[in-house]
Amino acid sequence: MTEYDYEALLKKAKCNLPEHVSDGERFQMPEPDLFIEGKTTVFRNFGEYADAFRREPEAILAYLLRELGTAGNLDGKRAVFKSRLVNEQVKSRLKAYFNTFVVCSECGKPDSRLVKDGRVLILECEACGAHRPVKVPRVITEVGPALVIGNTYEVLIQDLGRKGDGIAKIDKYAIFVPGTTKGTVVKIKIDNISGSVAFGHVVTE
Ligand SMILES: [Zn+2]
Repeated sequence: MTEYDYEALLKKAKCNLPEHVSDGERFQMPEPDLFIEGKTTVFRNFGEYADAFRREPEAILAYLLRELGTAGNLDGKRAVFKSRLVNEQVKSRLKAYFNTFVVCSECGKPDSRLVKDGRVLILECEACGAHRPVKVPRVITEVGPALVIGNTYEVLIQDLGRKGDGIAKIDKYAIFVPGTTKGTVVKIKIDNISGSVAFGHVVTE
């Protein structure tokens, strides 16, 4: 066995330790702090993500804009999107960014850096030394269901259906919410999902 192999094995062994034995806590994703201002969405704690992910804010923002299909810019530690977005939309993209570009698949820690190996982008874990290629899923929205029956979501009523029900949108879903008016932000619980159509009701808690 060469010395290099021994090093690699040691690192692998370290990675296989149960969570509580390794140092540090498992990464906790902050909640996105969004507020709608006119036709824009201000992402107040965007800087927290750039710090936690240890990636350039410009790179994270460029990814979010592409995935959300909207325009936007940085404003100090905040990001401003030129459309109205709800928490779930932003959060799911941040999670996807984290899973793709930040987290070590071996030890689950976010202490990583990206290096180029020819045309391949490699994620190097600084906690355990593991490497993995960065694979960008072609369609991020296909990563798990965006909507879950029984879960609550804060949504913007963007439209009205023929029977007067409010319609909100999350990813591919059109969600019908009776008793709501266009332009309002409401908290809803999902009652049913059928294909890309969902039904929900307003909750007050
Ligand atoms: Zn690792």
